[in-house]
Amino acid sequence: MGKIYKGTIINPVDAHHAEVMHHGFIEVDDHGRIIDKGIRKMADRDEEPVIMPAFVDVHVHLPQFDVRGSYSGNQLLLWLKKYIWPEEAKCSDNAHVKDIAQRFYDDLIRHGTLTAGIYGTIHENAVKTMIEAMPIRGRVGKVVMDQQAPDSLSETTREAIEVTERLCEQYGDRHMVTPRFAPSCSFEVMRQLAEIAQRYNCYIQTHLSENDDEIALVKKLFPEYRHYTDVYKQAGLLGEKTIVGHVIHCHEEELTILKETGTQIAHCPTSNVALKSGTMPLDDIVRHHIPFALGTDVGAGPKTSMLDVMRAFLDVHDSVHATPTAALYYATKSGAQVLGYSDETGSLDIKKSADFLILKEYKQIDQSLDEYIRFLTHKSDYDTIVEKTYYKGKALF
Ligand SMILES: [Zn+2]
Repeated sequence: MGKIYKGTIINPVDAHHAEVMHHGFIEVDDHGRIIDKGIRKMADRDEEPVIMPAFVDVHVHLPQFDVRGSYSGNQLLLWLKKYIWPEEAKCSDNAHVKDIAQRFYDDLIRHGTLTAGIYGTIHENAVKTMIEAMPIRGRVGKVVMDQQAPDSLSETTREAIEVTERLCEQYGDRHMVTPRFAPSCSFEVMRQLAEIAQRYNCYIQTHLSENDDEIALVKKLFPEYRHYTDVYKQAGLLGEKTIVGHVIHCHEEELTILKETGTQIAHCPTSNVALKSGTMPLDDIVRHHIPFALGTDVGAGPKTSMLDVMRAFLDVHDSVHATPTAALYYATKSGAQVLGYSDETGSLDIKKSADFLILKEYKQIDQSLDEYIRFLTHKSDYDTIVEKTYYKGKALF
């Protein structure tokens, strides 16, 4: 007999369906696994809390936590130079990393995110600290920048490769191979990073086709390739364990390559709005059956809350595929699949880890799930929504 949690159970199934059980329960064993769920025979009261799976953020930059909300128009490249690179350079100081990592993880937990795909910085010690201090589930990547980087963040090709390999060796797939984006990487470093990921069976994360100036720069730096996606393809970086952020301006041939290689997308609508990057072509991505999930992309994204990202997903897409039920799926179960944790988390299914949230906002019986999710995403203060956060069956907050 495990511990019973009673409430309205909301459990995402796919982009079109979710299980909703009023007067429901989940049962959790001593190992923090869900061992049963269902509807209670005797309901004790009409108003009951909502129980739903914890959120998954597939794309977030830990070192940018303190510079959220700093922008300079639609200039991705200027924004990086002005705000991001000086901030990331601070991570050569490990006391700074410890402090920011703790505040970052606390904030994620308060907002109900218990699984994340995280970008670090170029610094080996910083990435170690980010992995070792992590109280939730996730993978962290040492960012590689062996060209077009400021002095404070530059490294040689050899250093980038050696540090990446050491981190994969030490942490296995908790470390993600992370070429920042093509402009920051020589072709040689990308080719060797792909080999390391293959050898250690690690995930790869990077950015692809976010902004027009960035795409023009890639064309200038890599003139011998057909397009941005082809640079990554020829370097061997694309595949089922690769997550590319954004994919806003890719054309048909590029999307076909992503589909054929099994590459997955991190879709970050709050970031895309903030940097005026454009809108991911949702209908085309769905038509090509390219797997994707939602990410905050903090610090370009202003908030760590996945509810804010779900709100933006609903706001920016004029598409039959952008429903509240779909937003919930892309912020939970699909994220777990993209990050390789589908057996562990992302939904309230038997045998999975009990990673769940208890929400303060009740769901009325006559309210549809879409109405309820829309209501949640349009609350202004997201950190008042989560009452309690359970990770592996234990209360974290
Ligand atoms: Zn990013």
